[in-house]
Amino acid sequence: MIPYGKQVISQQDIDAVVEVLNSPWLTQGPKVPEFENAVTQYCQVQYGTATNSATSALHVACLALGVTHNDIVWTSPNSFVASSNCALYCGAKIDFVDIDPTTGNLSVDALKLKLAHAKQTNTLPKVLIPVHFAGQSCDMKSISTLAQEYGFKIIEDASHAVGGKYLDDPVGNCRYSDICIFSFHPVKIITSAEGGMALTNDSAINAKLKMYRSHGITAEQGLLHNEADGPWYYEQQALGFNYRMTDLHAALGTQQVQRLDEFVEKRNQLAQNYDQLFAQSEDITPLRQNEDVYNAYHLYVIRISSTNPELHKRLVETLRAQGIFCHVHYIPIYLQPYYQSLGFKPGHCQGAEDYYHSAVTLPLFPELSEIDQDYVATTLIETLTTLKAQSQ
Ligand SMILES: *Cc1c(COP(=O)(O)O)cnc(C)c1O
Repeated sequence: MIPYGKQVISQQDIDAVVEVLNSPWLTQGPKVPEFENAVTQYCQVQYGTATNSATSALHVACLALGVTHNDIVWTSPNSFVASSNCALYCGAKIDFVDIDPTTGNLSVDALKLKLAHAKQTNTLPKVLIPVHFAGQSCDMKSISTLAQEYGFKIIEDASHAVGGKYLDDPVGNCRYSDICIFSFHPVKIITSAEGGMALTNDSAINAKLKMYRSHGITAEQGLLHNEADGPWYYEQQALGFNYRMTDLHAALGTQQVQRLDEFVEKRNQLAQNYDQLFAQSEDITPLRQNEDVYNAYHLYVIRISSTNPELHKRLVETLRAQGIFCHVHYIPIYLQPYYQSLGFKPGHCQGAEDYYHSAVTLPLFPELSEIDQDYVATTLIETLTTLKAQSQ
């Protein structure tokens, strides 16, 4: 079976982890700030807070921006559930902004309309979480202009876009956002096994991210409310969590950052190769690429010229039966039973639903061979042609 994603682990990666195992630190120690520095330098951003997952990073990011009961958070329905669960963890209300089906990213036009309406009904969001779908940055310039106009904060969910660029600058520099989140899950671009990071240029937000990462506790002199009882003294100032990263994970992550550019270049080469293989097909369209973006290509997604759910299902089944583990990203979050139990109904974001029934994620990872790629493309084109003929 050709998987849809796969990490690349080198002997240096293994050696770095073994070195930590032989050191006095296993939990969060010196390797964590090393990893944070490697990522912040790469992204040209001031501060990084490593966490045990991007899900945790999203949660502490919401907390650091003060999201609480009765606040409203908006995100994209075309994402993993974590992009939206983080708001619910804080007791906030969540809502979804429809996407542009040609890119899979949040639609700025839909956002404008929704904001104008929300202003009238006094239901403006406190935070917007745009998701850089498949590795392509959203139109952050337009989104940040709207943030100033309507007074909301921005958390970029860049779980897919580590190593990507927007307007020639690295994704993660937070030029157009308050906080940016990365994931280092093995299926993503670089990995720390499990892990995430929250990036920001704001020192007060950084202090809060670090506090919420570890129980709401601080021991830093400048941040204490009371005078220290002695050198052992620390204060719990908020209700935080244990979301710390371990030194084992951080050592792996730091090694992987060194090969980030190489991985992303390879992903781009493979994506261009797929583009060529589908160039002649009228029934298969790769996601549209914006010119101001260098895509990190976490995912390679094509859309088929049909939104027939039955045909879509048979296509993925048939490909899997032929050894191609393709996938579908994503089921619109609000269609999940849990979200429907909160009151969301089918039809809420029509763009995301049409997109969902037409999208297929093909295998893409640095070690994917050209032979396998040819096999994926040929099998997809043939299978789709057969299924379309059958359904007529
Ligand atoms: C993977 C992913 C997450 C969660 O990442 P974890 O590190 O597994 O918690 C959040 N958002 C998006 C868009 C993702 O793809």
